[in-house]
Amino acid sequence: MKKGLLIVYSGLSGVGKGTILEKLMPMKDLNLAYSVSMTTRAPRPMEVDGVNYFFVSKERFLEAIKNGELLEHARFVGNDYGTPKAYVEKMRNEGKNVVLEIEIDGARQVVSKCEDALSIYIVPPSMEELERRIRERGSEDEQTILKRLSKAKQEMKEIDFYKNVVCNDDLDKAVDEIRNIILKEMNN
Ligand code: 5GP
Repeated sequence: MKKGLLIVYSGLSGVGKGTILEKLMPMKDLNLAYSVSMTTRAPRPMEVDGVNYFFVSKERFLEAIKNGELLEHARFVGNDYGTPKAYVEKMRNEGKNVVLEIEIDGARQVVSKCEDALSIYIVPPSMEELERRIRERGSEDEQTILKRLSKAKQEMKEIDFYKNVVCNDDLDKAVDEIRNIILKEMNN
């Protein structure tokens, strides 16, 4: 059986990555599996342990690093995030195309380890629109919002190592574009 793709999927906080993925995941022909990350961040309302993230203590996170359980890991606005390696390998060996929804430092680690990773970066139509979307979500305090926006501006300067950059101007158009990128790579 052909090994599944490793899809590195990133974009600025608030860009609509999650909404795009919700549309892509049920598409049977894409054969996707979502890699649930480990994080030390506190759950947001509606987030479920084991579904959105594995919410763990700092001690458990450090233990996972020490045991070599993580494919990559990074700090993002005061919290740790990492990709459990075993699930990714298992799913890829079963032919599933595994999606890692991760930030840029982790993406760089994965791309340097796995040259055949399919990397996709989602950009907002403008920074003003991004700020509006983050505020609308209403889940962070002002200080965190400002930190996330400053991080966003810095990150936009470093995205050239992604093979694909997609603008989320129109949701359906962005979904279609990413769908086609994945289908093309599957047929390669
Ligand atoms: P949030 O706190 O908004 O859920 O996530 C913050 C950032 O961390 C997002 O850019 C998200 O994609 C990223 N992230 C989530 N899981 C991982 C992971 O396992 N590794 C890395 N490097 N980043 C992650």
